[in-house]
Amino acid sequence: MPAQRRASKKAPERGLETYRSMRDFDRTPEPSGTPSSAPAEPAADAHGRRRFVVQRHRARRLHYDLRFEIDGVLVSWAVPKGPTLDPSARHLAVHVEDHPLEYEDFEGVIPGGQYGGGDVIVWDRGTWEPHATDDPAQAVASGELHADMYGEKLRGRLVLVRRDEAGGRGDGGKEQWLLVHKHDDAAVEGWDPEDHPRSVLSGRTNEEVRADPDRVWRSDLPADQASVELHPAVPAASEDELAALADLGSAGTWDVFGRRLRVTNLDKVLFPARGDEPPVTKRELLAYTARIAPVAVPYLRGRPLNLHRYPQGAGSKGFWHKQLPDHAPDWLPRWDNPEADDDDTTTYLVVDEPAALLWAANFGGLEWHAWTSTTDHPHRPTYAMVDIDPGPSTAWDDVLLLARLHRDAFEHLGVRAYPKVTGRRGIQVWVPIAPGPSFDETRAWVERLSRTVGAVVPELVSWRWGVSERGGHARLDYTQNAINKTLVAPYSPRASAGAPVSAPITWDELDEPWLRPDAFTVRTVLDRVAERGDLFAGVLRTDQTLPRLA
Ligand code: MN
Repeated sequence: MPAQRRASKKAPERGLETYRSMRDFDRTPEPSGTPSSAPAEPAADAHGRRRFVVQRHRARRLHYDLRFEIDGVLVSWAVPKGPTLDPSARHLAVHVEDHPLEYEDFEGVIPGGQYGGGDVIVWDRGTWEPHATDDPAQAVASGELHADMYGEKLRGRLVLVRRDEAGGRGDGGKEQWLLVHKHDDAAVEGWDPEDHPRSVLSGRTNEEVRADPDRVWRSDLPADQASVELHPAVPAASEDELAALADLGSAGTWDVFGRRLRVTNLDKVLFPARGDEPPVTKRELLAYTARIAPVAVPYLRGRPLNLHRYPQGAGSKGFWHKQLPDHAPDWLPRWDNPEADDDDTTTYLVVDEPAALLWAANFGGLEWHAWTSTTDHPHRPTYAMVDIDPGPSTAWDDVLLLARLHRDAFEHLGVRAYPKVTGRRGIQVWVPIAPGPSFDETRAWVERLSRTVGAVVPELVSWRWGVSERGGHARLDYTQNAINKTLVAPYSPRASAGAPVSAPITWDELDEPWLRPDAFTVRTVLDRVAERGDLFAGVLRTDQTLPRLA
């Protein structure tokens, strides 16, 4: 028996036969582990460590799937109570079929009716080392595996031991094992995996994945493309679609992004000229919007949108427009706020598709201000934000100084944070976070951070809110960390001469002499994105926990 088991481990293709025979890959998003999709990486890293993953799987019964990389497959146990750091716990672990290596990134929803139907998150992952053997397949075959774990949650040594009675087989003929954690430095008495329910991949819970399974496994694609982003790609407008806009008269219907839009006043100047450049017409704004949509829509998707409308152009006064009007086409994605009072906005536009952003731009929505929470969880922000808001007498150099001080603070704290120029006079910093904290918590965290930074340069910063009371000083505005308060979205135009854009920058660019808050416009930012990519993309990875500030 051990010899057979070992033989099957040496041939991972055979090891996956059971796995494949149990699944219909036309119906489940799980990876098939086809030979052509075998990963190129070596089986173990330079330190001889192999990968492991633990998935929390709500199928017919909740269980955790503990999977160790051994000889090119993931050797797997289903653990109903989950792996733990608690050295007193002895948890049943049922040895199940080997899974393909690509499964370690699988997070999503397996359709009901399919094998293992339910939702799956990547509860933990990292590397592991077999202890006291360099042949873990042999250790598994002989019924005892010792594993030193280097995960985000699991640390220290786990031991798996096959139960001997009745050949170690329980119901269904599967081997029953026991999983324990050693009494070592990583052990934590009373530790319960259910107290740590979030994905280490996306920061989401099983419930959140179930509600919004937008990271899916496309088993019809090669392995290196199969794990489809949490934020699926937005298509670009075709050259034909852009040419059709250019060919329209002053108004007409435009077929774009699979929708038919009525567009009007195309030659109207919406942004006055800046310097010697020609002014920006509505036609040019719409062309920009169509071109930037693949980059801009991911920051708007799933969020109520507050439009700053300037139907007469940036040269006249704008106003906030939140209520989706009755005349809006039926296909526009929208959200009814269940908490709206009588005088509140009841229905918001949600830019889930690029045509919706074109509709907003045609409607005079020159500026796009999306909520910092999503419609699923309106009281749970997905980022904390610092708004370095210059006063009338604040020089650009002072804004830069404040931004650099924040840069140093984030670096010191080890927090991923992303700066952008506002397109007007300031700089903002967006900090992606795993859903969880309330707005009160993110606001308090940003206030604490900014007050610490501001104390370094008290002569530059005012903590009074009225502009007239600020003596011309800058304000570090943490108060926008609140429901239905918004900052301008990345890549949104600003209602100023020349159509400047709120553009992401690198932290290093704070030291570039050419940097200006309105350095990029609807005419230049597309080239920058083509050259540098989307510098804000990390904001979409909402897996961070804000550290406690001393
Ligand atoms: Mn499972």
